[in-house]
Amino acid sequence: MVIAIHGGAGTILRSSMTPALQQQYEDGLRSALDAGYAILEDGGSSIDAVEKAVCVLEDFILFNAGRGSVFNNAGGHEMDAAIMDGKTLGAGAVSGISNVKNPVVLARTIMEKSEHVLLTGMGAEQFAKLNNLEFANDDYFYSEARYNQWQEALKENVVQLDHTEKKFGTVGAVALDKRGNLAAATSTGGMTNKKYGRMGDSPIIGAGTYANNKTCAISCTGHGELFIRAVAAYDVSCLMEYKGLSLQEACDVVVHDKLVKIGGEGGLVAVDATGNVALPFNSEGMYRGYRNAEKTEVQIYKD
Ligand code: ASP
Repeated sequence: MVIAIHGGAGTILRSSMTPALQQQYEDGLRSALDAGYAILEDGGSSIDAVEKAVCVLEDFILFNAGRGSVFNNAGGHEMDAAIMDGKTLGAGAVSGISNVKNPVVLARTIMEKSEHVLLTGMGAEQFAKLNNLEFANDDYFYSEARYNQWQEALKENVVQLDHTEKKFGTVGAVALDKRGNLAAATSTGGMTNKKYGRMGDSPIIGAGTYANNKTCAISCTGHGELFIRAVAAYDVSCLMEYKGLSLQEACDVVVHDKLVKIGGEGGLVAVDATGNVALPFNSEGMYRGYRNAEKTEVQIYKD
């Protein structure tokens, strides 16, 4: 049994972090790991564990997902999320939604209660209402830090990844349960000041999220456009399935070679069917952690 999570990758420098803020991030990561692992220990499924861990991270205002989502160009929040079950290869995803409290819950509902994989915008919100999912008003998603980030981006007329100094985000979880089933989930507010319905890799099965009991479960974070072009999550699985690479080897090829060559900054969290964990990233840092029977580990920086 194991669960691994991330809270985004990017330019995360010790010099720009206060001890109090670092503590808050670490506490957030730990509480998500503990909530997910408790489900696994109880004999629950990996899909329940990743959904729960991502919900905890979505509710935590410092990460760019759910409540802490960045502002888009119109001053609103458009969130993306996905979930995948490695046993059945069932998947659910959602993009460009507003005011849904936990986008990952909607992704799971789409997987289980619709005949589709990916729903977007107003249609997806309608489906959420139909299934009595929880909504929250705009105030819930407001934070001064995010608002200021958006104002800066507006002034400079740029679309910003939540990855520059002090701006971090996107969350994800992967897990292996007692029965040997793998699952992955990812959730994000995307890029600050995004427009035209921009969607990143997180809700695209195979790009930002993938799980297959034969190989591994993956959740990515980074510059979404490049992760889509690299089909990053599925590529890790393919390198294991078709080339016989280990989890670590496959992750190294994708994160430290293929993505680097096309300028794709970021990282991913991965577990394989035997419980190995890999948390590779090619950026300055990545909020990350894992928990198994032996230990709980939470890290932010490279060293
Ligand atoms: N991958 C996400 C996106 O491009 C952003 C992130 O990981 O922070 O939407």
